This record gives sequence, C-alpha cells and structure tokens, in this order.
Amino acid sequence: MTNTSRIGNWIKGEVQLPSSDRWLDKFSPHDGRLLSHFADSSAADVDSAVLAASVVFPAWSDVSPVKRGQILGDLVSVMKRRSDELAHCVALETGKSPQDAQGETAGAILQGEYFAGEGMRLHGRSLTSGVPGKYSHTVRQPRGVAGLIVPANTPIANIAWKVFPALVCGNAVVLKAAEDTPQIAQLFAEMTREAGLPDGVFNVIQGRGQLSGAALVSDERVAVISFTGSTGVGRWIAETAGRRLARVSLELGGKNPFVVCDDADLEQAVHWAALSAFSNAGQRCAAGSRIIVFRKVFDAFRDAFVDRARGLKLGNGPGCDLGPVVSRRQQQSVLAAIERAREQGGRILCGGGAPADPSLTQGYYVEPTVIDGLAPEAELCGKEIFGPVATLHPVENLQEALVFSNATEYGLTAAIHTRNVDRAMWFAQRVRAGVANVNMGTYGSEPHMPFGGFGSSGNGSREPGLEALDVYSELKNISFLARAQLI
Ligand code: NAD
Repeated sequence: MTNTSRIGNWIKGEVQLPSSDRWLDKFSPHDGRLLSHFADSSAADVDSAVLAASVVFPAWSDVSPVKRGQILGDLVSVMKRRSDELAHCVALETGKSPQDAQGETAGAILQGEYFAGEGMRLHGRSLTSGVPGKYSHTVRQPRGVAGLIVPANTPIANIAWKVFPALVCGNAVVLKAAEDTPQIAQLFAEMTREAGLPDGVFNVIQGRGQLSGAALVSDERVAVISFTGSTGVGRWIAETAGRRLARVSLELGGKNPFVVCDDADLEQAVHWAALSAFSNAGQRCAAGSRIIVFRKVFDAFRDAFVDRARGLKLGNGPGCDLGPVVSRRQQQSVLAAIERAREQGGRILCGGGAPADPSLTQGYYVEPTVIDGLAPEAELCGKEIFGPVATLHPVENLQEALVFSNATEYGLTAAIHTRNVDRAMWFAQRVRAGVANVNMGTYGSEPHMPFGGFGSSGNGSREPGLEALDVYSELKNISFLARAQLI
C-alpha cells in the first residue's frame, strides 16, 4: 500500500467514493506513518449501501441455503489462497506480529468454513401436534438487511464472525468497518466479488462510528444489527434500534477475572495469565485484566508474573509477544488510566509507560504493566482499559475470589487455575460470565462455541456457534392439516 492510497466504500460490488469527498487518515500503529486515507462516509453513503442491500435481498434470500453455503465456501477458498495478503494487511493496520496476524487470519477462515457448512444444516424442527392430521415444523428465514458493526482489535476475525452467519442465513449485509482497520474490510470485499457473491449482497461503509455507524443503526430498513464494541455505544444502539424493534445483538466490554488458587500449577498459571493480559496488547474483550490470587501463593505468583511481563518482547516483528495498541488516542487513554491508578494508590510493579526503545517511540506502544495495591473501588478494578494492563489482587479463599470476580458490571469471561475439580466446578458454575475456562486463559472460544456475556457485556445474544443463527434468522412455524380419513 502506498501512502496515497484511498479506500472508498464498497457498494453494489464496486468501490464508491464518499459523496462528500471527505477523507480520514489511517496511521501505522507501529511507527506512526500515514498508511492510507479512507472515506469519511455520511448518511447519504449509508443510504446508498442500505438501498443496494435492500434491492438485492429478495433474490439472495431466494437462493437456497445450500447454494449460499457453496458460495461462501468459494469465499473461504479465496481467503485461503490469499491468506498471506490478509495476514499482511492485518499486521500492517494493527501492528501485530506476523505470527499473530496469521493466527487471526486462520481463525477467520475457520469461522467461514463452519458457517459455509451451515448452509447444509440450516434445519428447523419437526413438531408433534394435538390436532389429528396436523403436521407442523419450523424453518429459518432471513431477517432482511443486516447492519454489522465491528471494532479493530482482531479485524478479519471480527468481520468473519458476523458476515458468514449473516449471509448463510440469507440476509444482505452492510458492514461498518472499524476506523482503525479500513483496508482489511476493503480486501475482504474484493474477495467476495472474486468468490462470485452477487453484487449488493455484501457492502462496506467506512468512516466514523458516530456519523456513518449511527446512520446505519438509525436506518429503518436495517432489520438486524450485530455490534461488537464498547458498552456505551452498545447501550445507545440498543435504545435506538430497539425503538423500531430491530433485532440487536451486542458483544460488549469485559473486565475479566483470572483466579489462581493455592493448588494451581503456578508455571502454567503465569503462562496463561500473561497471555490473557498482554497478548494482542491487551486489546481483547476477553482479556484477563484482574488477576485474583490466593494469598498463600500471592508473592510467588506476583514475582514470576512480573518477571514474565518484563521479559515480553514488544514490536511488530516475528517472535514479538505484543505489538502496539491500535491508535495514538488509545495509547494516550491507556497511559492516562495507569496514571490515575498510580494516584489512587496503585503500585506499578513493571511497565507503566511507553517503551524507551528508540525503534518503538514513533509507534503507539505501551509496556506490559502490572499493578497491585489498588482498593477494590479503584477505577482500574472496574473499568475496561483495552490495553496491556493487569491488576493483582490477593484473596483468602475461593469464596472471596468469587465475590471479587463478580464485582463488576461486566460478565464476559473468567478463568480459574486449580488442580481441584470441585473448586473448578464450584467456581465455573457461580462466576457471572458467559465463558468460564479452567486451567487456560480467559479467551479461546472457537467458531462452533457460543460467545457472549452477562450484565453490561452484552444483551443476552450469543455468537458465533449455532446460536448465531438465532441472531440472523427468524423462526417460522408452518403447519398443515391433512384429512384425518382417506377419501
Ligand atoms: P467502539 O464502541 O468505540 O467502536 C466499535 C465500532 O463501533 C467501530 O466500528 C465504531 O466506528 C463503531 N461506532 C462507534 N460509535 C458508534 C455509534 N454511535 N453508532 C454506530 N457505530 C458506532 O469500540 P472500540 O474502542 O473500537 O473497541 C473496543 C471495545 O470493543 C471494547 O469495549 C471491547 O471490549 C469491545 N469488544 C468486544 C468484543 C466481544 O465480543 N464482546 C470483542 C472485541 C471487542
């Protein structure tokens, strides 16, 4: 990509320039250089995209689910063939290492494979009836135009997570790309055309959330909105789209607890805690940002964890453990949150600022940061930071660990490390989280597993997995009455 490239919207199978001719800048998180300009789309552009999707929806919904799955299978093949390009683009726009970008791309392809196969399994149920001669069954039908809004943290995975189930169910899609990853959405769009997806079935709007994203949410023709992002925006979407009774699926923030019991394999616990807190530079809704440790092993765990954090390699090259956060604004917000934690009595055990390494100072890096000594009411114990920052909290026992785990408005994921199956099951059953993992990280869901949260982490929906079909389709109950007696 050259620094003069311009990324427009993708409407009706081709690039369209923003009607206002206004553009935004995308900078490299690794070194701050200008990567591209992308469309600062207006409500008029959103109108064009939604119109394109609305026009083609009836024909697309008429294509049999099996055929839709086959076309999506072709899209998966294109993604596989061009996976290096996808991974390169992910790495460039997010600053993550080549191996992390490849891993994410492989995950996106797996999502595609799973949902392409769903075309042959989009079945309903056959029901019994109390009425003689009555036969009844359910079928899944598409909802219409799906507005899909994604963040930048794992850009191609986020796109695949929503687009594949929406399309296999027969909806036409308008994707609102994340401001910080415009090019990956454009590249994916080009692949949909190469795979033979009919023009207008998949459209992309670039630009600012509060302008083009909000216009998409407010559009009366959009029947289902799936949003992944921050809880504040999610609330606004639920209110706005809820007024017209559009279906809304919200995957929101998290402040996920990672519990280490006194019988845990400490080496494994340190390994998984570091991955949970710092991989993807902590930009995961499922990041393990509150590490809750039995007092008996607190000092040993803390010392090993801080050592591990200090040893992590920052950068965007092969073998680096974590890259930068995605934007200058995000970097400033994370650093400011660390500063406030310091003022509130937190002890910064490692990190705490931007790295001094001259090869990283132009980028948006934040050192892996471990903080202890914070009171439970401190801001950092309850507020999501979305950066490589973890707080440590000693507890006396599992009961206390559970109370602390459940003491935020969120409820997305949780992990516990213990060798005791009774403790593991007791905690997993009671923790207020949509995902509970034993002896692993706070993340790690797979395409066929439902993901979502309690409380302010969502609105009760689950994606992906079979449960995503409930987001993107309507159930219809069809019955017919046959004569009970032969004539
Ligand atoms: P964000 O809410 O600021 O933005 C996410 C997307 O929403 C972007 O595309 C943005 O343009 C758009 N947007 C912003 N305002 C909008 C509006 N008023 N109307 C419509 N669209 C709007 O979030 P972010 O900072 O980019 O991403 C980080 C957040 O996402 C964190 O809270 C994180 O936990 C969450 N997240 C959740 C999951 C999950 O599955 N639960 C996964 C990844 C990230």
